[in-house]
Amino acid sequence: MKFSNFFIPTLKENPSDARIVSHILMLKSGMIRQETSGIYSWLPLGYRVLKKIIKIIEDLHELYEVNQILMPTIQSSEIWKKSGRYDTYGKEMLRINDRHSKELLYGPTNEEMITALGKQHIKSYKSLPQYFYHIQSKFRDEIRPRFGVMRAREFLMKDAYSFDINENEGVKTYYRFFRLYLKIFKSMGIPIVPVRALSGEIGGSLSHEFHLIVDSGESEIFLDKSILESDLEKLKDEDLKNLNSFTDEYYKNNKISIKLEKFRSIELGHIFLFGDKYSKSFDFNIEYENKKLTPFMGSYGIGISRIPAAIIEHSSDERGILWPEEVSPFEVVIINLINDSDETNKVSNDLYQNLKSKNIDVIYDDRNERPGIKFSDSDLIGIPIQIIIGKNLINDGNVTLKFRKDGKEINLTNDKVLDIIIKKLKNNK
Ligand code: ATP
Ligand code: MG
Repeated sequence: MKFSNFFIPTLKENPSDARIVSHILMLKSGMIRQETSGIYSWLPLGYRVLKKIIKIIEDLHELYEVNQILMPTIQSSEIWKKSGRYDTYGKEMLRINDRHSKELLYGPTNEEMITALGKQHIKSYKSLPQYFYHIQSKFRDEIRPRFGVMRAREFLMKDAYSFDINENEGVKTYYRFFRLYLKIFKSMGIPIVPVRALSGEIGGSLSHEFHLIVDSGESEIFLDKSILESDLEKLKDEDLKNLNSFTDEYYKNNKISIKLEKFRSIELGHIFLFGDKYSKSFDFNIEYENKKLTPFMGSYGIGISRIPAAIIEHSSDERGILWPEEVSPFEVVIINLINDSDETNKVSNDLYQNLKSKNIDVIYDDRNERPGIKFSDSDLIGIPIQIIIGKNLINDGNVTLKFRKDGKEINLTNDKVLDIIIKKLKNNK
């Protein structure tokens, strides 16, 4: 993409209605636009980040053999009356009447709908386990929508659901998703922390949340700091279960001395093994060895549209955002400092075409703007690798490779840049 064609309504001043860094930077860099309280449009820069996150989630769900579907945002009240949650969900649920006065609602989550789907289509125990997921907007009429997309009313969630033959199998599935979550957040460059959690509204016994530690976070968690350095994917299920448990019974029983410390954090994912709560209320039974089997279920959510904000809270400096390469809106920015030089124009343009042909996600700042503006915009939007093309090229054929995170600069002859960038990005993939 050329910067001159890219729609990026950056702001010079800090927006007055934003209080936390991520909200300020997302508005300032033109990633999002508020439509009304807690409801946002994603503009090109923000949407690119969202799509990178979605792609990581989709690829890894595919690897874990989870079926992708797409359920609607609007649901019928009937299924919610069946589970009993139509009355208990309260004011967070947006209720709508259609022209025939039929009660509908904008889904805050999909346990009921997936159970109805399962009951109609899963007829034999032989087809269990079954795993489904979708990526869909949710609506929750939050009492205090705030911090931009961090706590919105309409937001994008990935929600997965599982059906198993019994509790034993359900537990195995639960840890399968647990491990999938560790992989997903690692692939996004996010140092995630799983913690034992209460199941709340959804019900059930086994539940974990996945948090990112940041001082501005709305959540408070208790954490054994050593897990930040350990490779969680290598742990056994039982050890995963008790990570950062609020009861210290597990540690006592295993004679592990551990000190749980308090941190502030942002919840990015939440998984539940809730058993037969919904299958039972939907009378969803399968014949198994002459007995009735009620499938054992779980649900697994990731707050997709909260993730870009959480990453920014975790990783920014006084000049702007610091994206991890994995989800950055672009991998490379070419900053052409001299717009009226045939030489810099040609080298910039050739490099741009070459990087694109190698499938590298590149933005070329071809605007007729002062260098200062180009530098500050580039720093603001946080692209990890900058290629700066200016006087050096004309004087001695050099361009500058600059890394956004640490400001490190390398001068290279122009013909070497392409190879180095390709090598660096491919190594990280
Ligand atoms: P929270 O405790 O932050 O209110 P929750 O526990 O109600 O979240 P879940 O039902 O577990 O949320 O939903 C799964 C994920 O969706 C959460 O882990 C979170 O990342 C995200 N999420 C929930 N509510 C919102 C919201 N209002 N805006 C943006 N993302 C949200
Ligand atoms: Mg939750």
